[in-house]
Amino acid sequence: MDADFIIIGGGIAGVSAAARLAELGSVLLLEGEDSLAHHASGRSAALYEPHYGAAPVVGLSLASHAYFFAQKDVLSPRGLLTVAQGFEMEALRADADAMNLTLITGEQACAMVPILNPDVVKGGATADHAWDIDTDLLLQGFAKVARGHGARIMTKSQVTGITRTTGGWSVATKAGDFTGATLINAAGAWVDQVAQMAGVRPLGFQPNRRSMARIPAPGGHDVRHWPMLFGVGETWYAKPDAGAMLVSPAEEHPMQPHDAFADDLVLAEGLARYEAMVTEPVTRLITSWAGLRTFAPDRVLVIGRDVREPAFFWLAGQGGYGFQTSPAASQLAADLIAGRPPEIAPDLVAALSPARFG
Ligand SMILES: Cc1cc2nc3c(=O)[nH]c(=O)nc-3n(C[C@H](O)[C@H](O)[C@H](O)COP(=O)(O)OP(=O)(O)OC[C@H]3O[C@@H](n4cnc5c(N)ncnc54)[C@H](O)[C@@H]3O)c2cc1C
Repeated sequence: MDADFIIIGGGIAGVSAAARLAELGSVLLLEGEDSLAHHASGRSAALYEPHYGAAPVVGLSLASHAYFFAQKDVLSPRGLLTVAQGFEMEALRADADAMNLTLITGEQACAMVPILNPDVVKGGATADHAWDIDTDLLLQGFAKVARGHGARIMTKSQVTGITRTTGGWSVATKAGDFTGATLINAAGAWVDQVAQMAGVRPLGFQPNRRSMARIPAPGGHDVRHWPMLFGVGETWYAKPDAGAMLVSPAEEHPMQPHDAFADDLVLAEGLARYEAMVTEPVTRLITSWAGLRTFAPDRVLVIGRDVREPAFFWLAGQGGYGFQTSPAASQLAADLIAGRPPEIAPDLVAALSPARFG
C-alpha cells in the first residue's frame, strides 16, 4: 500500500483532513491542478460568521471556534451589517432572528458606514460575531501540520480512474498509480464524479456559481474597519478587502463542475443592487472571478463513511461554509475514521452523516 489514506482534492477540505489524518497513518493527497486551493478555496469571501447556514452547519462552525482562536493571525475582527430599505423591514427582522443580529435604525447604520445612503437605508441589523479569515494562512497551516507528520501532498495529479481492490483502492492519476486503504472524497464540485469513478452511488450534490468583483475603495474612503455589508436576504454583499471592496451579487446559479468564471450580466445586476444602497457609484472593476459553492440536497455538509462502501469516506458539500467549518469538519472526519467518539454531539454527527440519504 502506498498510503493508509488517499485524499482526493487539495482545497481546504482535503488539506485540513490531511493534517488530521496524518496523525493516524500515512496520507497521500492528490490534487489535479498545479497548486492547492485553485477552485472554490481560492475564491471565497473569507468570512467566519458562525450563525450562517442550516442548524448543523452552525453547529460545525461554532465547534470550529476554539481552533480558530488558537491560531495566530488567522482571524481578524470584521463585524457585519445588513441594510434594508423601508419596504424590507419584515425581511430584515427575519434575517436578524436567523443570524443573531441586533436591529438598529437607518441613521445608526449610515453612521457606521459613511457611503450608505440615508434616503434609502431605513434600517439595519448588526453583529460583532464575524471575522475575516486569512484563508491562505489557515490552509498553509493545515498543510504544514500534514507534511510535518509525513503526509505527501501532490499537485498536478488529476485522478482519472479508481478501482476497488481486496485491500482498498487503486487510484490512477496523471502522475502514476497509487494504492490506499481508505479513500477520502474531498473533491469539491467534483465529489459526485469521484464517487461514480469509484463505483459509489452519487448523493446528488449541486455546484452553484457565485461571482465576485473587486472595486476600488468607494469615494477613496479608508474601508479597513467597515463591517461586511449585506443586502436583506443575502441579495448582495460587500466586504473590505486589502484597501479595496469585494462586491458579490450573491447568486446561486446551478452549474456542472467546471473552472468557474464571473457572469458579466449577473455581476452588473448585483453591483446595481449594492449601488442602490450607497452614495458612491461603482466607477470601475479591478478584477472579477467566480467560484462554485457545492451543496448536498439539504444544504448540510456530508461527513462520514459511505453506507454501502465503508472504505469510501465523504467530506463533501461544504457549500458557502467550507473555511469556517473546516477545523471541526476535519476533526470529525478523523474521529470517525479513527473509530473514536467524536468531539461533537451525536445528533450533529447524525445530521452530517451520509446515512441520512439512505
Ligand atoms: C464566492 C464565494 C464566497 C465564499 N465565501 C465563503 C466564506 O466567506 N466563508 C467560508 O467559510 N466559505 C466560503 N465559501 C465557500 C468555500 O470557499 C468552499 O466551501 C470551500 O472552499 C470548499 O472547499 P473544498 O476543498 O471542498 O473544494 P475546492 O476548494 O473546490 O477543492 C476541491 C479540489 O478537488 C480537486 N479535484 C476535483 N476532482 C479531482 C480529481 N479527479 N483529481 C484530483 N483532484 C480533483 C479540485 O481541483 C479542487 O482543487 C465561498 C465560496 C465562494 C465561491
